[in-house]
Amino acid sequence: MKTYDVIIVGAGAAGLSAAKTALELSKKVAIIDLGDKPARKVAISGGGRCNFTNDAIAPNRYFGENADFVRSAISKVSSQDILNWVKSHHLKWIEKTAGQYFCATGAQDVVNALLQDIKSADLFLNNLTTDITKSDEETFVIKTDKNIFKSKSIVIATGGISYPVLGVSDFGYKIAKKFGHKIVPVRPALCAISTKMFPPELSGISFEAEASIGKEKIKDSILITHFGLGGPAIYRATVRNLIDDIHINLLPDINVFDWLKVVKTTEGKRNLATVLSSKLPARLARYIAQDASKNIADFKDSELKVIAEKISNLVVPKDSFKLYNLQSAEVVRGGVSTAEISSKTMESKLCPGLFFAGEVLDIAGDLGGFNLHWAFASGRIAGENA
Ligand SMILES: Cc1cc2nc3c(=O)[nH]c(=O)nc-3n(C[C@H](O)[C@H](O)[C@H](O)COP(=O)(O)OP(=O)(O)OC[C@H]3O[C@@H](n4cnc5c(N)ncnc54)[C@H](O)[C@@H]3O)c2cc1C
Repeated sequence: MKTYDVIIVGAGAAGLSAAKTALELSKKVAIIDLGDKPARKVAISGGGRCNFTNDAIAPNRYFGENADFVRSAISKVSSQDILNWVKSHHLKWIEKTAGQYFCATGAQDVVNALLQDIKSADLFLNNLTTDITKSDEETFVIKTDKNIFKSKSIVIATGGISYPVLGVSDFGYKIAKKFGHKIVPVRPALCAISTKMFPPELSGISFEAEASIGKEKIKDSILITHFGLGGPAIYRATVRNLIDDIHINLLPDINVFDWLKVVKTTEGKRNLATVLSSKLPARLARYIAQDASKNIADFKDSELKVIAEKISNLVVPKDSFKLYNLQSAEVVRGGVSTAEISSKTMESKLCPGLFFAGEVLDIAGDLGGFNLHWAFASGRIAGENA
């Protein structure tokens, strides 16, 4: 039986970050993962470019039963800290939008940097952790399908269960439950939605819009797919509390009814679909105008008002759409409840020596580098205290 100071279950962003920090504190560290490669989600993140942090890191970009839980970790680990780490590995970054950082040379370079930092840990790949028991006050026994280990501290960094093609498990939830923790039900987030709102022939159209969910307005692009709606604005809507309908404004910067009335008086002979296509993708404009043969002057103001409403307040009723699926979701909402975890140390309040980090917790971040930042920050705090 191999004995360590700290054993980390899960070699993702959170687990590797925890391992790096524990090693810096001269701990004897082992990392266990069920897959044949570490950091597989990092390797495909950000469309292969890895969006690793964001200057807008703040509690209001995180979601969960108590999203404020992130406050302590993100106050200790800022976006500048992550950039300094990236710099220390001589990696270059690009900002897709201001303050949203991607690796200029690709996500695999971020994986390589993470691995560089944990060279002195023992890494056990292809090891499915199956059970953890506490043999006495101070010692955990960790069983995998191939090995048995002992350690004083454990960090559970088993991630979420979305994107199962990469190799995921619900072990983190099971073990948390075993030690008395509550699990917040898990659902897909940062994903597309299926809805029959648009006919399949519109699929492939993408446009800039504003999606409102509750009081929050998200300006970003939307993509019509063969099954519903996707694109960043929809992804971002799905990580929020879905207690309301989603309202989509296709032209958020103008008053559409006023605009159409002006065009009706100044250019009445123009076809409505053509008028709309000056501001919307042509196929979508034709679909909204419906009757392609009519000029704008042929529409009564009351009819134009209905069309304007369709453009500026397209309602996707709450009960009419489904979150597309766990297979394609970038993260999950839900996980190990933060209620019984210390936000300052990531240690269980129910079982001393047991730590949690990353997506396994009931914390999901917005699109834009917030999830990897959370994994790095919470991993670092867990590694420091484990
Ligand atoms: C397609 C895609 C793109 C993304 N892009 C971005 C992005 O650009 N920016 C961003 O911030 N976030 C992005 N995310 C989200 C981000 O990748 C995750 O939130 C983050 O990687 C979670 O890190 P983690 O370490 O908590 O979990 P994971 O990275 O999921 O790591 C958990 C590890 O635990 C292992 N494990 C699980 N159970 C066991 C067990 N029983 N025994 C042994 N090992 C086990 C798993 O094999 C896995 O390797 C993306 C996600 C996806 C799916």
